[in-house]
Amino acid sequence: MNFHVLTLFPQMIIDGLNTSITGRAIEKGTLSVSAIDIRDFSTNKHLKVDDYPYGGGAGMVMQAAPVCAAYNYVAEKMKHKPRVIYMTPQGYPFKQSMAREFSKEDDLVILCGHYEGIDERALELIVTDYVSIGDYVLTGGELAAMVVIDAVSRLVPGVLNNEDSAEFESFHNNLLEYPQYTRPEMFEGMNVPEILLSGHHGKVDAWRLEKSIERTKQYRPDLYNLYFDNLKTKEI
Ligand code: SAM
Repeated sequence: MNFHVLTLFPQMIIDGLNTSITGRAIEKGTLSVSAIDIRDFSTNKHLKVDDYPYGGGAGMVMQAAPVCAAYNYVAEKMKHKPRVIYMTPQGYPFKQSMAREFSKEDDLVILCGHYEGIDERALELIVTDYVSIGDYVLTGGELAAMVVIDAVSRLVPGVLNNEDSAEFESFHNNLLEYPQYTRPEMFEGMNVPEILLSGHHGKVDAWRLEKSIERTKQYRPDLYNLYFDNLKTKEI
């Protein structure tokens, strides 16, 4: 899978993703991440890419022309129009189901804004998906883009060593994952729950489901309700 990030801070993207699991996948060739510097497409002699907002108000706005030129540079190498995600606090909340959907694409273009954002006309011309990583405002879209790339990458076959580990984890079936333990059996006077040492797979699965339900109810009542609604629909 190929990620193409349109940004004013390409080094942030490269430094952020070239380590750990994404770094290994890039080295293996399972993923590629290219960061395209929007400033390279400025036609201004001082390489300016922003200007004052029409109508007044604080801050600067990224101009449409360099953003569209950067997009055209990436898109002209592709056979069909790629999906273009604009990272914005005004977008649809990013979810695991979205990550799953994006992981089916061969190419994803991710557009990062800065300052007060990007001239609306550029967005209208090139963007297919508006995505937010949460109800807060970041200084730029780069950290948000890395969140999306990380979550999508681990669903691409071959990125995780053990593909099963992406299969049954939080948000699967609208439940949060159960608590995990590893050696030693006792730490600071606390034992691993007896049932996990029993070797009885049926009982372990039942315990894990119960803990998942308990956690989801406590921390994410919204998901807990969805889980039960889905169960009821299946029973009908
Ligand atoms: N003036 C914009 C508004 O109120 O919607 C916010 C602009 S923000 C300071 C600059 C850039 O950071 C945005 O263009 C976007 O790319 C990125 N950004 C900020 N918060 C974000 C979030 N919660 N999710 C995704 N991207 C975000």
